[in-house]
Amino acid sequence: MLAAHNCRFKDCTHREEPGCAVFQIVKDGLISEERLDSYQRLTEELIFESKKSEIGLKRLEKEKYRKRSVDIKEYKKFMGKP
Ligand SMILES: [Zn+2]
Repeated sequence: MLAAHNCRFKDCTHREEPGCAVFQIVKDGLISEERLDSYQRLTEELIFESKKSEIGLKRLEKEKYRKRSVDIKEYKKFMGKP
């Protein structure tokens, strides 16, 4: 959680947003990828909950799972880990 307070974006994924403090910290190796991943799961749930009322639930769920699998793949590639 620590770095989240430094992040300027309310709906940030902390993965690739320019200027994201959390992303910068992971890049610098100050917190582990695993830790970020569990933190992101938490924030994604919160974002998901807040969007749920606006968009159709089924559509959003589909979107969510598709996007997550792609994101993690891209993220690991970027971090240089298998
Ligand atoms: Zn962020």
